[in-house]
Amino acid sequence: MAQPSHARGESRPTQGVLIELPPIIRGRVLVTRGTFEVVVTCPKCGRLHRHRQPGIRRAPCNTTYLVRLGRKRVSA
Ligand SMILES: [Zn+2]
Repeated sequence: MAQPSHARGESRPTQGVLIELPPIIRGRVLVTRGTFEVVVTCPKCGRLHRHRQPGIRRAPCNTTYLVRLGRKRVSA
């Protein structure tokens, strides 16, 4: 019963794929006429940018960031 023991160490080529995550910006919800906008302070130009939805957005100043709503966390 000599089973050939395979070498565990499968050498996988480590791919150096670096995904650059955009900076996370907290946005404030601005309700206007039933619809809401997300207002964020741009980390690049310092201006206020408005977006329709949170998420990965691209500012007019050619900056990409991740907009999150600054809600208070409710600890259950
Ligand atoms: Zn900007």
